[in-house]
Amino acid sequence: MYPRIERKKTRVVWVGSISIGGENPIRVQSMTNTDTKDVKATLEQIQKLYSAGCEIIRVAIPDEKAVKALKDITKESPIPVIADLHFITSLGEKAVKAGIGGIRINPGTFKNKKNLDRLVRVCKDYGVCIRIGINAGSLESEILKKYKIPSPKAMVESALNWLEYIVEKFDYQNIKVSLKSSNWWNTVKAYELFSKKSDFPLHIGVTEAGGLIPGTIKNTLAISYLLLRGIGDTLRVSLTADPVEEVYVAYEILKNLGLRTLHPDIIACPTCGRCEIDLMKFYKEVENWARNIRANLKLAVMGCVVNGPGEARHADLGITGGKGVGIIFKKGKIIRKVPERELLPAFFEEIEKFLREHPERLILSS
Ligand code: SF4
Repeated sequence: MYPRIERKKTRVVWVGSISIGGENPIRVQSMTNTDTKDVKATLEQIQKLYSAGCEIIRVAIPDEKAVKALKDITKESPIPVIADLHFITSLGEKAVKAGIGGIRINPGTFKNKKNLDRLVRVCKDYGVCIRIGINAGSLESEILKKYKIPSPKAMVESALNWLEYIVEKFDYQNIKVSLKSSNWWNTVKAYELFSKKSDFPLHIGVTEAGGLIPGTIKNTLAISYLLLRGIGDTLRVSLTADPVEEVYVAYEILKNLGLRTLHPDIIACPTCGRCEIDLMKFYKEVENWARNIRANLKLAVMGCVVNGPGEARHADLGITGGKGVGIIFKKGKIIRKVPERELLPAFFEEIEKFLREHPERLILSS
C-alpha cells in the first residue's frame, strides 16, 4: 500500500522533448560533474545517467570553451540538456543557440537587467525553458535588506518578482522555478509557500546536501515532505557522489511513495546469527543487476531458509541459502535448489523467465 497523493495541477512546460508539470510523471534530473569542455567524458557520463533513468541533464557553462562544447553535447545527448548559467548572460545566449532545451538562471546574480532581458528574448525565440533558480545563499540585496535573513518568505518573494517580471514583460511562460537552500526545512517551507501562490511547475530538491548518506537523508526528507503534499514536478537529488547515484536515489524516493517505478524493488534482511551465506555480496550483485532492469518487480535477498522465504513471501522472486545450497523461491514457495555458486545466474534466469511470462511488468519510458 502507498500513500494517497493528490498532485497539485501545475501548468505544463517543455524542456526540449520532455514535458514537465500537469499530469506528467515527476521527471528525474541530474547534473554532470565532468569538465564540459571535455565532450567525450561529458557525453559518456550523460549516457550512463540516461541508462539509469535520468530524463533531463544539466551541464555547467563556466566559460566560452564550455559553451563551444555544448553544440556537440546537445547534438549527441539522448536527453535534453539544460545549461547552468551564472553571472555572464552572453554565455547563456550562445548556449541557447547551441541547442539546449533549458537554462537555469539565478536572476538575482545578474547585475544588469538589460542583459537578462536580452537572454530572456533569445530563450523565447528558441522556445528554451527557463528555470528561475532561487538560492538562499544568493538572494538580491533589496530582498535581504527587507527580510534580514534568507528566509523562505524572502526566497518566495524573490522568485515571484522574477517570475512576474519575465511573464509580464516578455509574455513568456515556459518557466519552472526552484527555491533551494541547504537547510531542508527552509527549503520545504519555501516550496510550500510558493505553491500556494503560483501554478508554475516546481523543480524540487535540497542544494549542497552532502555525501551519499547525509545527502540522501536530507533530500529524502525534503522531497518526500513535498511530494506527499502534491508539490513537485521534477526533481534532482543533489549529492556529493557519482551523479548516477542521484538518479537511483530519486527513483527510490518516487517508488516508495508509489509515484513512479523504474527499477525492481529489492527487499533484503539485515542478516543475523542464522545467516549461512555471504548475503552482502549476493545483495550487491542483485542490486547492480537490477539497476539495469526496467520492471515493476519485487525481489528478495534473504539470509536463511528458516525465515527467509516466509518473511519475503510478498516478493515475486527471491533467493536464500545455507550450507553450500542456493535456494530460489517464488511468492514464498521454493521452486529451485542449486549449488550456492550457481545461485545468481539461476536467479537471473528465473527473473527473465518471469518477465517473459509477465510482459506487463516491464516499464517502457513515459
Ligand atoms: S532471514 Fe534469517 S538470516 Fe535474515 S534476519 Fe531473518 S532470521 Fe536472520
